[in-house]
Amino acid sequence: MPRAAFTTLGCKVNQYETQRILESFEDAGFSVVPFDSPADVYVVNTCSVTAVAESKSRYTVRRALRSNPKAKVVVTGCAAQMALNERRAFPEAHLLVPNPEKMRTVEHVLRAFPGLGAGLRPRPRSAKTPGSAWKGRTRATIKIQEGCNVFCSYCSIPFTRPHMVSRPAAEILGEVDRLVQMGYKEVVLSGVLIGAYGPDTGSGGPHFEDLIELMADTPGLERIRISSIEMRHVTFRLMNLMASGLVVPHLHLPLQSGSDGVLRDMNRPYTSREFLDLLDLLRAVVPDLLVTTDVMVGFPTETPERFEESLRTVEQASFLKAHVFRFSPRPGTKADVWGDAVAAEEKQRRSQLLMEVAGRTGEAEAARFLGRSLRVLVEGKCPKTGLMAGLSDNYLEVRFAGPAELARRVCTVAAMEVRDGVVYGELATPGGSSGSSDDLIRVAAL
Ligand code: SF4
Repeated sequence: MPRAAFTTLGCKVNQYETQRILESFEDAGFSVVPFDSPADVYVVNTCSVTAVAESKSRYTVRRALRSNPKAKVVVTGCAAQMALNERRAFPEAHLLVPNPEKMRTVEHVLRAFPGLGAGLRPRPRSAKTPGSAWKGRTRATIKIQEGCNVFCSYCSIPFTRPHMVSRPAAEILGEVDRLVQMGYKEVVLSGVLIGAYGPDTGSGGPHFEDLIELMADTPGLERIRISSIEMRHVTFRLMNLMASGLVVPHLHLPLQSGSDGVLRDMNRPYTSREFLDLLDLLRAVVPDLLVTTDVMVGFPTETPERFEESLRTVEQASFLKAHVFRFSPRPGTKADVWGDAVAAEEKQRRSQLLMEVAGRTGEAEAARFLGRSLRVLVEGKCPKTGLMAGLSDNYLEVRFAGPAELARRVCTVAAMEVRDGVVYGELATPGGSSGSSDDLIRVAAL
C-alpha cells in the first residue's frame, strides 16, 4: 500500500487543512506514516509569513527527500503559492499545489504520478469515523473562513490567500457534530480573518456571532474558542457571548505594534489608545478574560523611540502571552520597499525586551486566579513532571496531581501557585463543571 506522510508549517488554518488533506489520502487508500519515516509521497503544507518560515518550508522539503530520495514531494500552502505567483522554482519539489486547489491535493498527486495509484484500494469512511489526524486529541480546530483582503503593509497573506470565503454554516455545524461524537470537548474556530465571517463572503446566512450561537446548541460541546480575531471585529455581541459563557473568556488579539506611527505604516486601522480602551471595556464586561497577542519587532520604520512606545503599550495591555516575531521583508508587500532597516542584533534585543515584559505581565495575569477554581480541559500527563496537564477555559496552562483517566475530561482545579507562567493546583471536582471557589472538594494534593 503506498505510504503518505504530512507536515505543516505555520498557522492553525494550515494545521486544519493538513488534517483534511490527510483524511482524503486515507480515503483514497494511502497508509499514513510519520513524516520522518520512509514514505512514497510527502506533503508539506508550507508558510511564507516570514522569511524564516519560508526557509523552514524549503528545509522541510529537503528533509523529506533525505528519508526517501525516490519519494515524490508535494508542496502546497503559502510558500508554494508565493513561488507560483512569482514564477519562481521550488527546488526539489515534484509538484506544487496552489492554495485554492489544496483540498484536492490527492487528486493532483494521482494525476501527476499515476504509478502511485496502482496499489490503492479506496476506503470510504462513515461520516463518524475519525481520520487518524483527529484521534486522541482534546480540542479540534475548525476552519470557518478563508482569505484576507486587508493588505497590512508587511503581510504576504493577501497575495497567497486573496479570496474571502466563508464556509456554509450547515457544513461547519455538521463538522462540529461529528467532532463532538468523536469525543472532542472543545472546538477552536479559525480562519485568516474570522471576524469577517458572514453572508457577504459565502456563508449563505449567518454572521459570525449567529454561527457561534448555532454551534453552542450542539449537545456535548463544552467549549467554543476563537483562535485569533482583529480588534475591529470584537463586537458587544461577541463580548456578551463570552460573558454568558457560550465562548471561553480568552481572546487572541493581534496588536502587531504598540506605536501609533508604526501602526500607521503597517496599515493597521487603530491606535494604541484604541486598543487599550478596547481591553478595558472587554475586561469590564468579561472579568475573567485573558488576552494573548502577536507583536512584531524591527518593522523598518520602528525607530528606537517608537519601539519604547510599543514596549510601554505591551506593558499596559497586560497580556497573558505575546508571540513576538521579527520583521522580514516579504516580496510584493508595501513594506518590502523600505527594506530590512533594523539590524538583526537590534531585532533580537527588542524581541528579548518584549518577551521579558510579556513574561512579567503573564505571571501577574495568572496570579489573579490564585485561590480560584479553574475549569480545565485535561490533555494528559506532562512527561516532565508526571502531573496531569491541561488548559483552563481562559487559556492558563494548568498542572495538578490526578489519575490518568482524567485525560480528555473537563475538571475543576483549585489554583495554588504560579511558576514560570504555569498554574499548579489541586484537583477539586473530576469532571465537575463549577467555576466558583466555594465548591472545592479536594480529593488530591500535590
Ligand atoms: S489582517 Fe493583516 S496581518 Fe492579518 S492576514 Fe490580513 S493582511 Fe495579514
